[in-house]
Amino acid sequence: MTTVLTDNPVGIHALVWTGAWDESSARDAMRRTATAGYDLIEVPLLDPGLVDATMTRELAVEHGLTTRFSTGLGPDTDISSDDADVVAAGAHLLERAIEVVAQSGSDFLGGVISSAMTKYTRLPTATGRANAVAVLREVADRAADHGITLGLEVVNRYESNLVNTADQALALVDDIGRDNVGVHLDLYHMNIEERDLAGPVRRCAEARRLVHVHVGESHRGYLGTGSVDLVGLFRALHDVGYVGPLVFESFSSVVVSEAFTTALGIWREPWQDADDLARHARQTIATHAHAAASHLVTDRRS
Ligand code: MN
Repeated sequence: MTTVLTDNPVGIHALVWTGAWDESSARDAMRRTATAGYDLIEVPLLDPGLVDATMTRELAVEHGLTTRFSTGLGPDTDISSDDADVVAAGAHLLERAIEVVAQSGSDFLGGVISSAMTKYTRLPTATGRANAVAVLREVADRAADHGITLGLEVVNRYESNLVNTADQALALVDDIGRDNVGVHLDLYHMNIEERDLAGPVRRCAEARRLVHVHVGESHRGYLGTGSVDLVGLFRALHDVGYVGPLVFESFSSVVVSEAFTTALGIWREPWQDADDLARHARQTIATHAHAAASHLVTDRRS
């Protein structure tokens, strides 16, 4: 056995703790992330101007954490638009985001970066898709200068019209044609759009393009209390030898970020105590990773 799933970095999305990123919010989020046993915090970067990269880097070092970043383009910065001005605005935002990621000492930008993160009222167009490919090629080259990998997050049909399945993401990644662009999978979205969870994991891994995984429930609350097949997912991640981060993502209207709340439709409170939620998720991820590894050992000995 060359890899053990229990060795993967385990992360948590900052919106479990806070919808802001001023120094006191960031410090509080980092402290609670480390206390709950995580290795990594994922920082949302909807507006790169609102994230102080130096502060983020110093706090992460202080708390012994690594950082990864994710963002979602908006209708005014949609690189899959047919409108050249909108595409240019999206390209500019992504390039600013890469600067923040680099200055924060991070190696990754994921999220909905191939289209807007919104409910579309139109079909994607060939021109728009080609625009997204061209922009992501340039952004990938800029990212490569800093050793940064881009992850195209696969999200459900109400949050993008361009990339709803892993196979669509793989096709887009192929068209972009850069080594530092991969697929960012999210169980919550996969549970809505994919036929199963193991197949997409296998296909992304076989293409050597699986770069980031969001672990989330069907209702985005406590892990193990929804309909997501965590056993099947962890077994698949283990079997393909995935060594990247497992990042717990959960949203409740208890923690509010203006942009995220409306874009993701966070209208309810699946939890109130973020510390309890985070500890539980960390334990659940450890338990499933351990179980997946044990499963393989048992099979080999029988
Ligand atoms: Mn996600």
